[in-house]
Amino acid sequence: MLNLILFGPPGAGKGTQSQNIITKYGLAHLSTGDIFRANIKGETQLGVLAKSYIDKGQLVPDDVTIKMLQSEVEKNPGAKGFIFDGFPRTAAQAQALDVLLEARNQKINVLVSLEVEEEELKKRLLERGKTSGRADDVDPSVIQKRIEVYKAETTPVKEYYSKQGKTVEVNGIGDVLEIFKTITSKIDSRL
Ligand code: ADP
Repeated sequence: MLNLILFGPPGAGKGTQSQNIITKYGLAHLSTGDIFRANIKGETQLGVLAKSYIDKGQLVPDDVTIKMLQSEVEKNPGAKGFIFDGFPRTAAQAQALDVLLEARNQKINVLVSLEVEEEELKKRLLERGKTSGRADDVDPSVIQKRIEVYKAETTPVKEYYSKQGKTVEVNGIGDVLEIFKTITSKIDSRL
């Protein structure tokens, strides 16, 4: 069983690297951003609520996000493990995740933190906005807000898992496959 958190600011490459990691380790992928976007597309009640926060670059409230994540984990009872992409994003979410996994006799093995500096993130997100169809990638003030929210609310998650000795940092700038190789060598050293 391998449970991994892929961590990093918006635009760090979590989605891209997730795909490679899933293929190699056979994990179930849980991307809270993807789940919210699917709900927005399907015009569900959750989607309408989530959209009101996402469009402003704010986080969806913890209670809503945690409940959703929990039900997604429960939908995958046979999973060999999970890759958590975009979750946890607050210290409260990290605590809730630990409780949830503990109740299933599981734990987080490793948090991989993709390190990318702010100017590069802004460039990538604006570039992605040209084709992603994501409203939150188009407006520079929304991008800036997401980065500020990341610094204020999400970086504590990295500290939280550092204290458990589970955080590893990977340079997120460079060739996608090279970054993937670095990630896998760090994961493998934890297995
Ligand atoms: P990115 O990493 O590029 O910001 P995501 O697809 O992970 O993109 O998330 C998009 C948006 O969805 C976030 O800006 C936030 O509003 C919302 N969101 C995603 N995950 C969470 C979470 N764990 N807690 C609260 N809000 C979230």
